[in-house]
Amino acid sequence: MQQHLHESIPLHPPHCVVGVIGGGQLGRMLALAARRMGVRTVIWTGGLEAPAVEVADEVIDLPFDDPAALDRFCATATVATVEFENIPRETLEAVAAKTPLHPSPSAISICQNREREKEFLRQNDIPHTWFAVISSAEDLAAAMAELNGPAVLKTAAFGYDGKGQLKLEGNENPTEIWETFESDRAVLEAWVPFERELSIMAARSSDGTIVTYDPAENRHRHHILDVSIVPARVSLSVSIEAAEIARRIAEALDYRGILGVEFFLNHDGTLLVNEIAPRPHNSGHHTLDACATSQFEQQLRAVIGLPLGSPRLLSPVVMLNLLGDFWPAETTPPNWLPLFEDEEAFLHLYGKRRAIGRRKMGHANFLGADADEALSRAEGLKLLWLDAAK
Ligand code: AMP
Repeated sequence: MQQHLHESIPLHPPHCVVGVIGGGQLGRMLALAARRMGVRTVIWTGGLEAPAVEVADEVIDLPFDDPAALDRFCATATVATVEFENIPRETLEAVAAKTPLHPSPSAISICQNREREKEFLRQNDIPHTWFAVISSAEDLAAAMAELNGPAVLKTAAFGYDGKGQLKLEGNENPTEIWETFESDRAVLEAWVPFERELSIMAARSSDGTIVTYDPAENRHRHHILDVSIVPARVSLSVSIEAAEIARRIAEALDYRGILGVEFFLNHDGTLLVNEIAPRPHNSGHHTLDACATSQFEQQLRAVIGLPLGSPRLLSPVVMLNLLGDFWPAETTPPNWLPLFEDEEAFLHLYGKRRAIGRRKMGHANFLGADADEALSRAEGLKLLWLDAAK
């Protein structure tokens, strides 16, 4: 009954409350975009130190399997979404039974597990890396023999930023590898000697309209995104192909909301999908300063049921991730002055109190006359900060 009400009455700002499962920096930026639009948010997160807490209108600080938390969340939210994908399927289903949840539990569940994600790509004929599902040393031995070359072994669930991954040359002992690997279900992927890595953000609305952003060219440092360069320095045909693949994925998932697709670009110009993120993505942070509609506003529009905004790139831009290793000490930030002296650089910090390891503390967007020029300014500051933090 409640669900029908939600579906039939357009709940425009300020009469809608968007429930966000998860309270990290993506939830924070979603809540900030919501505030600007006069939309209220309720964040469901474990831990009051989470970045989204200080900007949300209401916070539910309870575990995802707590029935009282579920009731409160669904009673408060007129519509719900997620800001990270590693949420138990039961929680997603329980929320969706009471409050419209976009993207759907099935779309999220495909993207939260590498095995399901790869099977989805295979079934939909979307180009992806060669892979085999591994649940024993025998499986691993057979897959390594078939591949006969470099590979990467990845846990099926809960992997991100290179965690739960092991690079293999192909001549290792499969039994030894499997005994020490930290998971009992994995995928073995062929190692791709890519030319570069790309990603694209796409949004699909309640009426099935899809918009795609310009592709980003991504560089990693210690397996974590370091810089995104937009527009990616690739041919028009590669950009069109990336957008077309993202469209096909959004359609096949019957998706509603924003999604990120990560690609490897081969030397012959062909693309392979690496991963799909069913939420805003780190490589879409440039949209905050450089696009007509940010990825966060786009997510809200799609989830609430409003028309999508234009994804148009207003300026070439480089996004630099500000990781914890830029901090001279855990509670001592880098010297931001050179960034503020650059009048086309914009700082976004996530409110995290301690810079532990390579935690994502914030990012900076550098607008420029062209991507190369913006990149050299971003790289200059990066080297300065890393050097000062040594
Ligand atoms: P992932 O967590 O799967 O996105 O992997 C993190 C990063 O590891 C990617 O962005 C690539 O730089 C690298 N990587 C992952 N899988 C492969 C692969 N099959 N071939 C080459 N590089 C890979």
